[in-house]
Amino acid sequence: MINFKKGSAPRCLIQKGNGTTQNYIVWANKWNAKLMLTPPNKSWNWYIYKGTSVNSILIEKLRKLTDSHCSFCDNYAPEADSDSIEHLLPKMIFPLKSFTWTNLFLSCTGCQKRAKGWKKYESKIRSVLKPDIKSYSFEKYFYYDTRNGEIIVNKIGTSKRDQERADLTIKHFQLNEFSRPASRKGFHKRFYSSGSVTKIKTGFNINELPYRSMYQ
Ligand SMILES: [Zn+2]
Repeated sequence: MINFKKGSAPRCLIQKGNGTTQNYIVWANKWNAKLMLTPPNKSWNWYIYKGTSVNSILIEKLRKLTDSHCSFCDNYAPEADSDSIEHLLPKMIFPLKSFTWTNLFLSCTGCQKRAKGWKKYESKIRSVLKPDIKSYSFEKYFYYDTRNGEIIVNKIGTSKRDQERADLTIKHFQLNEFSRPASRKGFHKRFYSSGSVTKIKTGFNINELPYRSMYQ
């Protein structure tokens, strides 16, 4: 998970579509109203802005911000059809945040799967770390273990609270699940000069590699 600057919200979200209220508020209120129905209407849609789906406008902008990397696991997948927009605060629980720019992230499908048992710490969702916050850096909260490819909570110079948030973030995005540690280890081996743990082999652009936090 690499720090990046989110910047101001795209025009499609902040324009006042009906003359008085910004689109992101109007659309979130509509989604909220659908969920309040009995039974709730859970069919989600992104709306159309000037002939284009808001979803595709946002995905393009989010891709630029992360250089086509997943915002959470940093997998690199330019133009991947499987990547989509993750609502960090889930849209079913926080409907009024469903079109809020700071709540939207480019995410791979793996990071959108919820871990088994996630429900029991769902109430802590607001403590999951956000890569677009100024005070966030990978080094502050984590380190990469070259022996097994895992992401580990950094316990040096961090508060108990920071450590809990880092641990929660690893669990939430399942950063050490699936075959992710093995995949990181493989890339690490492939791209580091033999005998060096600080230099990437020449000819590789770091922004076209997955798991960029390993190379810093
Ligand atoms: Zn991911």
